[in-house]
Amino acid sequence: MNGSCLCKTVEFKLCYRPSLFYRCHCSLCRKQTGVGYNLATLVKENEFRWIQGENSIISWSKPTGYRTDFCRVCGSTVPNILRDMPYVWVPVGLLDESLVMECVGDFCTDDAMPWDDIRSDTPHSESVQSLAYLLDLLKLTT
Ligand SMILES: [Zn+2]
Ligand SMILES: [Zn+2]
Repeated sequence: MNGSCLCKTVEFKLCYRPSLFYRCHCSLCRKQTGVGYNLATLVKENEFRWIQGENSIISWSKPTGYRTDFCRVCGSTVPNILRDMPYVWVPVGLLDESLVMECVGDFCTDDAMPWDDIRSDTPHSESVQSLAYLLDLLKLTT
């Protein structure tokens, strides 16, 4: 199945239909998205392909390591390949099919805006620091 940015300059393909995602309510994710939280999933790198537009992606990082990649034409947040692990972070709003998906966890709930009370069964006050834990929640561990 495919995903794309707002202007379709950046397009990618997933080899399967993801069914799980997580939310992060931290201040960085709020700034990045412009709304209350980020909705994203991780996919294995070998199940992800760029279709086009990879050279239209701009990367911005904080010294702490937080990184966001976006389309230079329309500004949509786009997938980014994790630095040290063979996984790709994918914002679920980019997916071009209506999928039935389930939220497996909410992170940085202590940072959430007071009006943001949406929570899954597994809220976490801490950040998404443990990738292994997140991969387990997303059922990506083998
Ligand atoms: Zn775009
Ligand atoms: Zn966050």
